[in-house]
Amino acid sequence: MRYITDLDKLTRIPPLERERLKQVAARYAFRVNDYYLGLIDWQDPADPIRRLVIPDQEELEDWGALDASNESANSPVRGVQHKYPHTVLLLCNEVCGAYCRYCFRKRLFMNDNDEVSTDVSAGLEYIAQRPQVTNVLLTGGDPLLMSTRRLGRIIEGLRAIPHVQIIRIGSKMPAFDPWRISGDPALLDLFRRMSTPQQRIYLMAHFDHPRELTEPALEGLAAGLDAGLAIVNQNPIIAGINDHPEVLAELFRRLSFAGVAQYYLFQGRPTAGNKPFETTIVHSYRVVEEAKTRVSGLAKRARLVMSHESGKIEIVGVDRRHIYLRYHRARDPRNEGRMLVCRRDDDACWLDDLVVIEGLGGGRPPWRDDDHSASRAPAAQALSCAG
Ligand code: SF4
Repeated sequence: MRYITDLDKLTRIPPLERERLKQVAARYAFRVNDYYLGLIDWQDPADPIRRLVIPDQEELEDWGALDASNESANSPVRGVQHKYPHTVLLLCNEVCGAYCRYCFRKRLFMNDNDEVSTDVSAGLEYIAQRPQVTNVLLTGGDPLLMSTRRLGRIIEGLRAIPHVQIIRIGSKMPAFDPWRISGDPALLDLFRRMSTPQQRIYLMAHFDHPRELTEPALEGLAAGLDAGLAIVNQNPIIAGINDHPEVLAELFRRLSFAGVAQYYLFQGRPTAGNKPFETTIVHSYRVVEEAKTRVSGLAKRARLVMSHESGKIEIVGVDRRHIYLRYHRARDPRNEGRMLVCRRDDDACWLDDLVVIEGLGGGRPPWRDDDHSASRAPAAQALSCAG
């Protein structure tokens, strides 16, 4: 695979535009490969595949935070994120097959970031000392960009810890470079040995658009399944890429045909640089629900969630006046399963934009210790009184 990090190599983009985009790439890393470039329809300036990897001037708009979910606050050891008792994330690689323009972890690709550790020994030690950790997600960056030997050492290290039952690998390589799976017999052998009938390894694939499901991509998924992986897909709702019911429906359908279940759909985090990719909560909900009406039951198992600092929050409903949310996972165990009823706001993109009318279980909005909701209370109360 030939990787491209120099925008001047993209001669399909006019020279003046390339010059402008270099300012974007100077702030947020740019990298793509020739296979993925080949999927772009250059005749279409709004082509979703182009939008996914080619810098956009609007990224420079001053908006959002680099670490919008405050992930770094959950890092007890370099390269480890531990937010929920049973689950640990190992950030073991800081490179990806290409860089998605909407990435919520783009800070990891910046020079001064030290949240990733390519030496996972301290992370493995941390996990080994905590019997409550049953579930480990290898992430980054993209773990499948590591050599098979290195990945093998990490997986073998995890398999040697008796209380780790589930290993997940989060990767967009099935979309960016399918041959990374189908073309590496040693990797497939590693999966065959380590993904057993008793303990499967889960590949958390990341397809955003049905056009990424090319023949080589489907062959990569088939090779992974054949080697014993369980494979699911998860992706964000991204403006101009997949925020359309038919696009999502086709993605769900074709993944289900290939034996891959859609797991989470993510509401985009308010991450710096991501303004052009944001969708509102109401729009995302409508798109997902409309997509689900067009597919069979197997293809519509996904949950639409916000990975908020306070937990994973499912967007469960929208009516004329309200947005209904539920904690699917909560950082504070007291909020586990808790419902939040919010005033409907068609411009809101994130939980912090919403006014919470009622968090079942009582009290102020549970994700903040301060009383930031007080200034919003009269409006919330008025709405409550109005029924
Ligand atoms: S593959 Fe994942 S981690 Fe890498 S740039 Fe894309 S979204 Fe970010």
